[in-house]
Amino acid sequence: MIDAHSIMYITNRPDITMVSGEGSWLTDNEGKRYLDFMQGWAVNCLGHSNPGMIAALDKQARKVMNPSPAFYNEPMIELADLLTANSCFDKVFFANSGAEANEGAIKLARKWGKLHKNKAFEIITFDHSFHGRTIATMSASGKPGWDTMFAPQVPGFPKAHLNDIASVEALINENTVAVMLEPVQGEGGVIPAEIGFMQDLRALTKKHNILLIVDEVQSGCGRTGKLFAHQLFDVEPDIMTLGKGIGGGVPLSALLCTDAVASFEPGDQGGTYNGNPLMCAVGISVITQLTAPGFLTDVMAKGEYLKSKLLQLSAEFGFDGERGEGLLRALIMNRDIGPSIVDAARNMTPQGLLINSPRPNLLRFMPALNVSTLEIDLMIETLRTLIAQAPK
Ligand SMILES: *Cc1c(COP(=O)(O)O)cnc(C)c1O
Repeated sequence: MIDAHSIMYITNRPDITMVSGEGSWLTDNEGKRYLDFMQGWAVNCLGHSNPGMIAALDKQARKVMNPSPAFYNEPMIELADLLTANSCFDKVFFANSGAEANEGAIKLARKWGKLHKNKAFEIITFDHSFHGRTIATMSASGKPGWDTMFAPQVPGFPKAHLNDIASVEALINENTVAVMLEPVQGEGGVIPAEIGFMQDLRALTKKHNILLIVDEVQSGCGRTGKLFAHQLFDVEPDIMTLGKGIGGGVPLSALLCTDAVASFEPGDQGGTYNGNPLMCAVGISVITQLTAPGFLTDVMAKGEYLKSKLLQLSAEFGFDGERGEGLLRALIMNRDIGPSIVDAARNMTPQGLLINSPRPNLLRFMPALNVSTLEIDLMIETLRTLIAQAPK
């Protein structure tokens, strides 16, 4: 038994510790290996122990780790330049987690509303959305039950239905300052926004002079085969948040916006670790690798490959297909066997498989973006065995 009595209880964890990782593989304290198709919840976009990230950490650690957020540092500027050069945004603020980046987006929208829209503050968000675990981002989230969990919520987040433009339009009033959504809902069960919906949403928000905020904490940074998920839809939002993949496994997130929206004044926004050079140095390595010639084309191709294999499985077992974009995909089963398959996959010997079940009838796949087709094949073979053994 692992003695973890000092660890605050927040969730049920298996009785192992993870000690090392390489690429798509993790190894536990007993030497058992796991094929990792979770990658820290779509975080390790370059897999475990990526050599470029290790070199960036080592080099920056020897130079300076924390000169103070009161000063510029080289990695912070270089990473911001990389992000603006590769997107429609002009300004970047770095933070430590997705929730914190989203808090920043909410503050920025409210600030803009105060200055330019007669103090409008309401941000329309969506059923089943997930924006983080701080009180404001829980309030913005549309996860069932979260409205009462730590009541009272932060007011000002009316909920619309994804892919239903009329449901958004019905909520717009003189207090509305923005619409915020995940281009592909992740925790909600890998539900992509439709291209027509995203384009209508951009037109609608422009018409009413309200901001469009995309939460790309899970879907950004190459996950969908585009560097940023909104690029799939050919729309230009006003604000974007990044997390997870941007740090490739270290705590780094970002809030990006256009010049027209960048309205913070001194005192409005900050944070002890904002623009931390150690984390930003890793971010530079990650974004440089993601934007290397051919990398994203390869993600797209592997996404299509995974899709075809999942559709094959679905047909074999009479399931309801699959959905997703790039390497963020879900298999839609015909019964609630997700959690039992996840446990059985992890417990397999001699090698385990790590997958996730965001809803009981779904399995979610978010492998490293540099996963090999052989590893995809191995995952599919393992899954085929597990589904065949699952309760009928
Ligand atoms: C994970 C996630 C968050 C929260 O990120 P943290 O780093 O856990 O705070 C926010 N939005 C989306 C879409 C996410 O998937």
